[in-house]
Amino acid sequence: MPKVDATSPADEAPAKTVQVLLPLLVPSPYDYAVPQENDVEVGSIVRVPLGARLVTGVVWGEGSGEVASERLRAIAEIKDVPPLKESLRAFIGWVARYTVSHESLVLRMILRVPEAFDPPVPLRALRLAGDAPERMTPARRRVLDLMADGMARPAREIALVASVASSVPKGLIAAGCLEEVVLPHRPSFAVPDPTVARPDLSSEQQAAAETLGQAVAAKTFETLVLEGVTGSGKTEVYFDALARVLEQGRQVLVLLPEIALSVQFLARFEERFGVAPAVWHSDVPRRLRRDVWRGVATGEVKVVVGARSALFLPFCDLGLMVVDEEHDGSYKQDDGVCYHGRDMAVVRASLEQIPIVLCSATPSLETLANVDKGRYRHIFLPVRHGGASMPDVTTVDMTGAGTERGHWLSPTLVKAMQACLEAGEQSLLYLNRRGYAPLTLCRTCGHRLECPNCSAWLVEHRHRARLQCHHCGIWSPRPEACPQCHDSDSLVACGPGVERLAEEVAERFPDARMEIMASDTLLGPDDVAALVGRIERGELDILIGTQVAAKGHHFPMLTLVGVVDADLGLDGGDPRAMERTWQLLHQVAGRAGREDRPGRVLLQTHEPRHPVMRALVSGDRETFLAREKEGRQEAGMPPYGRLAGIVLSGTNEEQVRRLAHDLARNAPRGRDLVTFGPAPAPLSLLRGRFRWRLLVKAGREVNIQAALRTWLEPVQLKGSLRLQIDVDPLSFL
Ligand code: ADP
Ligand code: ZN
Ligand code: ZN
Repeated sequence: MPKVDATSPADEAPAKTVQVLLPLLVPSPYDYAVPQENDVEVGSIVRVPLGARLVTGVVWGEGSGEVASERLRAIAEIKDVPPLKESLRAFIGWVARYTVSHESLVLRMILRVPEAFDPPVPLRALRLAGDAPERMTPARRRVLDLMADGMARPAREIALVASVASSVPKGLIAAGCLEEVVLPHRPSFAVPDPTVARPDLSSEQQAAAETLGQAVAAKTFETLVLEGVTGSGKTEVYFDALARVLEQGRQVLVLLPEIALSVQFLARFEERFGVAPAVWHSDVPRRLRRDVWRGVATGEVKVVVGARSALFLPFCDLGLMVVDEEHDGSYKQDDGVCYHGRDMAVVRASLEQIPIVLCSATPSLETLANVDKGRYRHIFLPVRHGGASMPDVTTVDMTGAGTERGHWLSPTLVKAMQACLEAGEQSLLYLNRRGYAPLTLCRTCGHRLECPNCSAWLVEHRHRARLQCHHCGIWSPRPEACPQCHDSDSLVACGPGVERLAEEVAERFPDARMEIMASDTLLGPDDVAALVGRIERGELDILIGTQVAAKGHHFPMLTLVGVVDADLGLDGGDPRAMERTWQLLHQVAGRAGREDRPGRVLLQTHEPRHPVMRALVSGDRETFLAREKEGRQEAGMPPYGRLAGIVLSGTNEEQVRRLAHDLARNAPRGRDLVTFGPAPAPLSLLRGRFRWRLLVKAGREVNIQAALRTWLEPVQLKGSLRLQIDVDPLSFL
């Protein structure tokens, strides 16, 4: 701070200066002068000049005094929204330090909805006024019919709904038949009511709910792990805790994976609390996002159900966080600021001094290791609600199972499906592969159809008649002839996707009602809701689904789950391959027999003796986890060691390779610290960029972030070169 000259008159005192953090890649906050008539506090959201433009930023502290105050530019505008709270500012710093990123880039995730900083614009609308016009036309008739209910509607909407030109409503205003009104913008977020439909909890559920309730009442930081078999009522239990927070008048954040597909969850919430929660994910329309952001900041919004990005909302009085399906990999963001939503949620809860509940039927080893260390409190729900039994899981050995060429269903599975059909029950065929076939090959020359931008095969999507890259989205029609040897009719589809499986099902069960459920066959929440409705009403016999069908759904009539390829996902060098496969298959299996009809699960596998299959069949979670933990411990892998992935990429392969080797020469090495690589990434080309990888591995006691900063901060990246740091990577592609 520049010293105040004691002799200068008060009204000429040097302007107050503050640092403003900007959501741009700049090294540190900049100093700005605060105009005399204004007052700002740390956390205020402001507009400041930067070069020739205005940028929105956040007051970060007192001015550094490095620039003479008379040369400073002044804050242009102070936004009329609550300043970012200290706990949120501390969170920004924490995330930046942990992920070896920049505060400015974390701030960018918070300021992502710029419309939220301005008062909402009033909506202009038209309403019926006066009598019929002198001159009536069919178009005018349609408009007046529409408006006869007396409702006010925006002119654009009137034109659209009545299918008339925009001049028609205007003409009706001139004729005095419609009048202009200004509608106050009133986002209505009704407050969820904790008493609407309180269920009778079983004694186990009640005990779990009491433990959560105590944590809520204590209003301090604690991490609770709510583990329970699928269908044990975990959701009901944390709803109970949520109700208690609502009684305190505080806010709740529930994080869900795949929130865009969680229609059943939202319906359940509404049944329990009388109103829908505010929803937050990237597909929510901007206007609504603006309202949610403001409502969260002012306290009007009480419950947000969101994707990982909801972690960066400016809650004014958060009382509880829940991370449902905490083991789910979609909580990890692996570009930009690479953070794990679950882990950062725990950090935020500690900064807010509130309890957090991590919920799963198959908690991650990371979470279980924290339970073992006594850092997290563990609550366990051992049985399904209402006496439903756990499904009976068996394997079908596919070596010599008698499956016909070009077919994927074993006779055992087909027989079980037949029995299910005859009993009027539903079955789910699970295959985590979208499209028709993962590979198209030329029979004549062996050429494989690959993406020109990525080192990946093109996946055939037959119902859309195209070949598509699942990494960059590029697509083309299926060629008639081989692009390499030009032989015609030589291309063959290899391997199954859900579409191809549907073909086999149609052939075997021509009368069964069947549908595919995959992220690319569902166009949005309405589509999901419609499909879920058809399944619930029993209008479907066989559901063929990818991961989106595995998660969270509760279908009473579903009694058979057939996992078409249980080995998928066990290959490759991923240290979590076994854990992840076990979690996913356990989750899918948990869809079967959730009510009074017992469920059955068939796992088609080439390795029935594999530890994952054995654990699923026996239901012996302890042995499996103990083995997994031991293996990781011996290898010094997470959660018993630390990893950081470094991905270098660029459009010039030679430059990327050279940078990778240069970096490797100064790579951190030391006690309990090694760097592997460089090596071309398994996905060595992605969206036209060549990729190389390094992997840093360290003991738990090592400050891996400090080592990464010392090593990588001085690196100057030229041209197209990029460097991505991923602390605690989940993906090694
Ligand atoms: P989980 O989240 O553990 O898979 P859910 O909370 O989804 O379990 O519960 C499974 C089903 O049982 C749901 O349909 C839920 O409404 C019902 N259920 C669970 N507990 C109760 C209860 N105490 N009273 C009534 N229904 C319950
Ligand atoms: Zn060919
Ligand atoms: Zn591609």
